[in-house]
Amino acid sequence: MATARPHVALIAFPFGTHAAPLFALARAIAAAAPGTAVSFLSTARSFATLSLAEESKNLLLVPVADGLPDAFQAPAALPPPEHIEQMIGMFMAAAAAGSLREALTAAETGNGGVRVSCVMSDAFLWMAGEVAEAVGKPWVPLWTGGPAGLSAHLYTDLLRSADGIGDGETNWRNEKLLDCVPVLGAHRVSDLPEGIVFGDLDAPVSRLLHRMAQTLPKAAAVLLNTFEGLDPAIESDFAAKFSKSLSLGPLHLLAPPFVPTPRTDHCLLWLDGRAPATVAYVSFGSFMSPPPAELAELAEGLEASGVEFLWSLKDEAKKFLPPGFLERTRDKGLVVSWAPQVEVLQHAAVGVFVMHGGWNSVLESITAGVPMISRPFFGDQRMNARSVSHVWEVGVVVEGGAMTKDGVVRALEVVLKREEGRRMREKASKLKAAGMRAVVRPEGSSKVNFKKFLEILG
Ligand code: UDP
Repeated sequence: MATARPHVALIAFPFGTHAAPLFALARAIAAAAPGTAVSFLSTARSFATLSLAEESKNLLLVPVADGLPDAFQAPAALPPPEHIEQMIGMFMAAAAAGSLREALTAAETGNGGVRVSCVMSDAFLWMAGEVAEAVGKPWVPLWTGGPAGLSAHLYTDLLRSADGIGDGETNWRNEKLLDCVPVLGAHRVSDLPEGIVFGDLDAPVSRLLHRMAQTLPKAAAVLLNTFEGLDPAIESDFAAKFSKSLSLGPLHLLAPPFVPTPRTDHCLLWLDGRAPATVAYVSFGSFMSPPPAELAELAEGLEASGVEFLWSLKDEAKKFLPPGFLERTRDKGLVVSWAPQVEVLQHAAVGVFVMHGGWNSVLESITAGVPMISRPFFGDQRMNARSVSHVWEVGVVVEGGAMTKDGVVRALEVVLKREEGRRMREKASKLKAAGMRAVVRPEGSSKVNFKKFLEILG
């Protein structure tokens, strides 16, 4: 009897930058296994955020209903951050009501009736595990955030009952180390994502992550956007908890974009004129914007430091810059609304990344060997930023948890000019070499894990 053609359906969590690493994986599978049908399922809004220049023949995009009422359907524009929780709630409600099953059926129809043989998803979508179980196929989720954040979710119940972790009123500023979870011993209670021991434990995202942590051990394998050796203790713990735990990252190197940024890009040309390791690149991710007062303090700090800077700043936030800032710093800085971040970080002129601790940004900085100054805001950003400063020692977190003019000046001085900063750069370049080895060399751990993962797909 002929073996049916394998068909992998990957279901994205269509918010923030979640879809990008899963899409990178979809492309890597389509390229490595041309005989496999690959369906990438996400909302139309999320497709608009991906680089879809040139699809491979065996990669099909399948829309999933976003569950949103008409009021949220404004064309293309990303939703304001304050609506995201609501939108996630509506998307998950639609998923529970059958939208994922419907999209899987559409994926099979779009592939000439080839049945789905493996359901992959963003780990947030624990429901995909149930969908896979219902059709008797393996579920392989991808955790797109940092390993420490995932570990915190896995230990939620223990953390909620641990000694020294008080009630939700004070935990957000509790600096006690998480020694009740040895693999997180360098992190503090206050670094935990909201929804574990502080914040709204009943919010849709908190409930979703709690449920996800309970469901992941049932997956055929859990994939991680990291590389072996970055967090060895956490990696061993995952290996004990999951059926299989495979680090495949950094995914932006495993499947780089279809269209590389041309060398004629304005940001890259501007960097070409700067001395090595002198420029501060500033970006707080794809949708986050720091509070206006902090943006103004950061601008004043950059100006007072005299450090040259490239700042990816959303157009709507420019009005919060101090009066005359752009004119006064015309020779020192370049402010753009979007930068080709991966290439910018790889540029020799960049000496430090002022950032928010988003996992993609952390990985992109690590694999460029660039130290970081973090101002984390929410989710796993505080844990990532703490790993940067206290585990890998390749950066600092802004003093007092918020950006001030003097704090920014001091942090830039430490990272760019002091011996401490030189040591950070040295450690960062070792991590860069390890990350590159993992994805580039044939015996690299991410390459080897990717092959193991293809075997699961059949
Ligand atoms: N990014 C970019 N140019 C910018 C700002 C962001 O290319 O000007 C990309 C960045 O390379 C990263 C992603 O947007 O891949 C941000 O992801 P991250 O996980 O760091 O933060 P999030 O946007 O999810 O908060």
